[in-house]
Amino acid sequence: MSAKITAIRGMNDILPVATKDSPVTTERWQAVEQVLRQLMQQYGYREIRLPIVEATPLFKRAIGEVTDIVEKEMYTFEDRGGDSLTLRPEGTAGCVRACLEHSLTYNQTQRLWYTGAMFRYERPQKGRYRQFHQFGVETFGMTGADIEAELILMTARLWKLLGLTDVVSLELNSLGEKESRQAYRAALISYLEQHVDQLDDDSKRRLHTNPLRVLDSKDPKVQAVLVNAPQLFDYLDEESRTHQQKLTAVLDAAGVSYTLNPRLVRGLDYYNKTVFEWVTTALGSQGTVCAGGRYDGLVTQLGGQATPAVGFAIGLERLVLLIDTLQQDKISTETDIYLVADENAVNQALLVAETLRNTLTKYRILTHCGGGSFKSQMKKADKTGAIIALILGQDEIAQQTVTVKWLQKGEQVTLPQTELSDYLHSTLGASA
Ligand code: ATP
Ligand code: MG
Repeated sequence: MSAKITAIRGMNDILPVATKDSPVTTERWQAVEQVLRQLMQQYGYREIRLPIVEATPLFKRAIGEVTDIVEKEMYTFEDRGGDSLTLRPEGTAGCVRACLEHSLTYNQTQRLWYTGAMFRYERPQKGRYRQFHQFGVETFGMTGADIEAELILMTARLWKLLGLTDVVSLELNSLGEKESRQAYRAALISYLEQHVDQLDDDSKRRLHTNPLRVLDSKDPKVQAVLVNAPQLFDYLDEESRTHQQKLTAVLDAAGVSYTLNPRLVRGLDYYNKTVFEWVTTALGSQGTVCAGGRYDGLVTQLGGQATPAVGFAIGLERLVLLIDTLQQDKISTETDIYLVADENAVNQALLVAETLRNTLTKYRILTHCGGGSFKSQMKKADKTGAIIALILGQDEIAQQTVTVKWLQKGEQVTLPQTELSDYLHSTLGASA
């Protein structure tokens, strides 16, 4: 027997049934996706669909050479023509590339959203995978704190729609502008240099390349060193301070609570001013469900005219896991109507089902396929959890009738096929 071929580690199937490795069903995913689409429509955001593969230099230039993603997480390969391509590790770079390519941001504002698979070579664990999905929003052309406020209010509404308001909290910080960040960077480096023996290897490596990322370290010894480290807030430029105050004023007025977290930074180099995260403690250590911020520098970095930009990305695996953990809004996956037919009535059953689907549009209707005795067909009907079995036996065919059996109540009635649709409409409508 040849060896079994399995999925790639960290790249999971999403199935209609829950399993240990894939605990969240496709129905749950679809329910969340539907809420997201509706939300985007409500806010007037429009969808952009982007390729999964981009030229490698796009990510190197957009994300930055000294980031986790570019240093060690990208799936990069040479195609048959010898070009270096990369499976997208995030959506922002591709979105900006597309906007520039099609002049979507030139002299105009844009409010866009995307969703899809992203790829990072990381150690797979709960909430962290090699293929995962993000839902992201990117806006262009708006400099004020009002757009950041809009995005945060939008995410707050999303948690409300999904019943998550009590289990997520908002953390906020400002990274300032380039100059203030550089002054802070220098102060942080000189502080950390004095404590270099207490830093872990990752932090030592980042000390001179990407020192702000040290603030993000989960290592307890590094965390202890950071307690007395200089604070970014003390180095903030006046404009960034005012910007943050404008944002928090809206959040205060809207009743959205937040924590100012001076150590909140992003793994990507292109952020300035506002950064935010929605975090939860209900998922273990992979607690960031949504991360975003302002990235005014990226469009010029990729060769476009200076264009302010703000966006966020939600890790959908973490989101659906969180909803699943709380076991809220149980999604019904059961069949409503199951058609059982004599072997001579199989074609007729398919046609009856088609007719019913024309009018009973919100019900799940399954026709038994594959033959078998009445008894075994009825067993299948029961197993699907159907409310009703429709029976087309020899008598029914001869008399152009159909028997409606209410599986849970155990009652049944036989009526002319022509009356079936009306009967189901009136009775199902009342019981559904
Ligand atoms: P982390 O610190 O958890 O690695 P990050 O800073 O790398 O996160 P971003 O690049 O900001 O993450 O991505 C936005 C969101 O996408 C994250 O907050 C998270 O919800 C999700 N995400 C990122 N990497 C993964 C992954 N490997 N598996 C599942 N979700 C992920
Ligand atoms: Mg990461």
